[in-house]
Amino acid sequence: MQFKEFDFHPALLEGIEASNYETATPIQEKVIPPIMAGKDVIASAQTGTGKTAAFLLPIMNRLLQNHSENTVGALIVVPTRELAIQISQHIEGLSYFTHLSSIAIYGGSGGDNFIAEKKALQMGADIIVCTPGRMIAHMNMGYVNMKGLQFLVLDEADRMLDMGFVNDILRIIKPLPANRQNLLFSATMPEKIRQLARQTLKDPVEINIAISKPPEKVTQKAFIVYEAQKNGLLKLLLKQSVYKNALVFCSKKQTVKQIRKELKQEGFTVEEIHSDLEQAQREDVLRAFTSGRVPLLVATDILSRGIDIDTIDLVLNYDVPADGEDYVHRIGRTARAEADGSAFTLVGEKEQNRFASIELLIGKEVEKAEVPKEFGETPSYKPKLRSVNHNKNPKRKFYRGTPKRR
Ligand code: AMP
Repeated sequence: MQFKEFDFHPALLEGIEASNYETATPIQEKVIPPIMAGKDVIASAQTGTGKTAAFLLPIMNRLLQNHSENTVGALIVVPTRELAIQISQHIEGLSYFTHLSSIAIYGGSGGDNFIAEKKALQMGADIIVCTPGRMIAHMNMGYVNMKGLQFLVLDEADRMLDMGFVNDILRIIKPLPANRQNLLFSATMPEKIRQLARQTLKDPVEINIAISKPPEKVTQKAFIVYEAQKNGLLKLLLKQSVYKNALVFCSKKQTVKQIRKELKQEGFTVEEIHSDLEQAQREDVLRAFTSGRVPLLVATDILSRGIDIDTIDLVLNYDVPADGEDYVHRIGRTARAEADGSAFTLVGEKEQNRFASIELLIGKEVEKAEVPKEFGETPSYKPKLRSVNHNKNPKRKFYRGTPKRR
């Protein structure tokens, strides 16, 4: 799903673009709509899934439409100062083209910061990220004003409880206005988290993103190429590989049809499968494939989920799938049961960012294989995943508060 499909404020879309995010990660797809609809959310999601932007984007979007400058709009409570700083950097990148203000409040910083923090807590800021101990220290001074608060986020809630912050959290929550929206994120969901959720959330939407990992037995390789080099390389890889059953995945059915035609012309025994085929035709094709009569199949992602053929030992991604889950499903078609398998992905010049976000999601850098010399020069792998392009002419006129402590 593209970010353009969410009904975000244009300034926020600019920040998303400058952060080089193209497609939403699975957690973002699931979490953003209920938050935008005003629901409380409890989500189990690990770091690396894009969970921070999943809650920041809808919060920022609402605050851009409706927030008075003199109150705190969102309070994000996190276990550690490192996480507070990291979230603060995320806010800075995503809100760069907006007027939103934010401040991170955490222990161990000096007196100057305390004054800036006090000012934000008293006079208002759009978003405050805090660690529990430091927040309690401010609350004890009596000036914290949370009257207009719209969002409370508890991030990495399981870690906060493990670190013994439960009473601090309950104390922070107690004086907050009742008609706020609550979001709780936790990598695990033990009973103590559910108990905290019952105390804090109202009729929450529950979201569970179990990020699957590709089977270890699959040898994954990526070929960094120009789009025009893909056809030749695909044919060469198919000729060089020994396989019982090989699947070539393409994102579009037009590409499936074209590739199948070209492979056939090259002498391969090959079929195609996609949504234009009737159910009976699909079944015929699958039967020919599983029986070994047709060892090679070109398919869209309709085949990436659920199909269970033990003899597939080679998967070739002609293009990079839209998200990490699709990638895992595609390459999960191979190395089933006891067999080993290989999964090769052709990464075109415009697909590098998408491939890098997949690597991030599966928590593994995929080996970049050498493209045979006969193909000539190839692009280098330079995804722009985390860099934020701050050289763009910022349109914001007014920007207050984001801490400059890094
Ligand atoms: P998180 O799970 O929030 O710690 O995010 C992990 C990393 O993914 C961060 O470096 C984010 O900048 C990056 N990220 C978040 N959302 C996206 C997206 N939709 N596309 C690409 N990268 C993303």
